[in-house]
Amino acid sequence: MPREELVMVCCSDVAGQTRGKGFPVKLLDARRNRGVGWTGTNIMITGFGAIADGPFGSFGDLFLKPDLDTHVRVDFDDDEEAPEQFVLSDICNTDGSPWECCPRAFLKRGLAALREEAGLLLKASFEHEFHYDGVEERPNSGYNLDAYRRQGSFGETFLYALAQAGLEPDTFMPEYGPCQYEITVEPSIGLRAADNAVILRELARATAWRHGARASFTPILRPDAVGNGVHLHFSLLDAETREPVSYDPARPHGISERIGSFAAGVLEKMPALTALTAATTISYLRLVPHRWSASYNNLGIQDREAGVRRAPLFEASGASPEKQFNLEYRAGDAAASPYLFLGGLVWAGLHGLRQGLATPDATEEDPSEFSDAELERRGLVRLPQSLAAALDALAGDEDLKAAMGTVLHDVYLKHKRFENDLLKDLSPEEQCERYRLVY
Ligand code: GLU
Ligand code: MG
Repeated sequence: MPREELVMVCCSDVAGQTRGKGFPVKLLDARRNRGVGWTGTNIMITGFGAIADGPFGSFGDLFLKPDLDTHVRVDFDDDEEAPEQFVLSDICNTDGSPWECCPRAFLKRGLAALREEAGLLLKASFEHEFHYDGVEERPNSGYNLDAYRRQGSFGETFLYALAQAGLEPDTFMPEYGPCQYEITVEPSIGLRAADNAVILRELARATAWRHGARASFTPILRPDAVGNGVHLHFSLLDAETREPVSYDPARPHGISERIGSFAAGVLEKMPALTALTAATTISYLRLVPHRWSASYNNLGIQDREAGVRRAPLFEASGASPEKQFNLEYRAGDAAASPYLFLGGLVWAGLHGLRQGLATPDATEEDPSEFSDAELERRGLVRLPQSLAAALDALAGDEDLKAAMGTVLHDVYLKHKRFENDLLKDLSPEEQCERYRLVY
């Protein structure tokens, strides 16, 4: 049957959902400035559909302004189904200025401040784990060739789709958890890293759907499973020369003074940041010791449970340590909007640079074994153990409040506290099942 090709103009919102409106793709260029209409209360729609009370009610007109650089069109060569086609957008006021609650604008403001105040660019990549239900759950599937084989053509189709969308796939593997897979892509500079994370999640879902299955980026499948982590790898570049500035062989662990201050800001703000990066009730089933996630605000060397890990440098690879050097923020998952996740990290890092914070002493031991006195001596804290506690930390953080702006800060807390209340009477198992279907 004849068809009119459509494109969806989308934003990634407080719920970490990709929402928007569609129109004929032939109008995309003509609509590049006016996009599609939107309204403030949409940002109060939780992942479960219920709408949290917010300041906007039924009032206010906004629009989604497409950023044509993010136009994704993947033809899966399937006559039955439409090609996968969407474009990411900014949420704007009717005069074209950024809406104060636009998550993408929050990140853009942070990146602009990092460049203006510190002369730095951020290079980053989100490393994703997810659950693919197109395979049966079998024991001993971690990194197993047979578990890789059993996902059939999902992996190859997914990597094809990513490449079509301009991402550069790095690795794809069966991870340790039940039906768990992991995908990494090459890093990008600034905003594009977060755009890529939104695109990657949607293309995983799109590919799984075309295989009659579901890819879920839920933070954790079941209370007893290992989680689906999102680890954010990041490094700094000089804004003028675009050369890396994170590695300094003369300093401990090669951590340059600038990325050391940046990391110190991230670690200081980490309890509050988790409200933005681990934004569901079940995220906190994952952030416990000995689940290979993160549970303290420590900078760790060779420790896959550190809050921020210095990623290894492979001398054998031939690539220079300057180019390889990156830090990895591990206390996040894919229920968070990548814009709020990366934006929070940038603003926290900028706080460290503004204050000239010293590079934290790196731990090479398990912080969960430290006594309270030892934790205090090292300036370490246990990360929040519930969404409610993380939200309280964010509520009390004046720097992050200033970075978000009072309206977004307030809206975020209202939305997420409402979500917390929605789920509070469900068992952990029931909460996991609800989130599995939503993410
Ligand atoms: N699944 C772990 C997490 O929840 C990460 C395992 C790894 O180090 O890749 O973060
Ligand atoms: Mg992994």
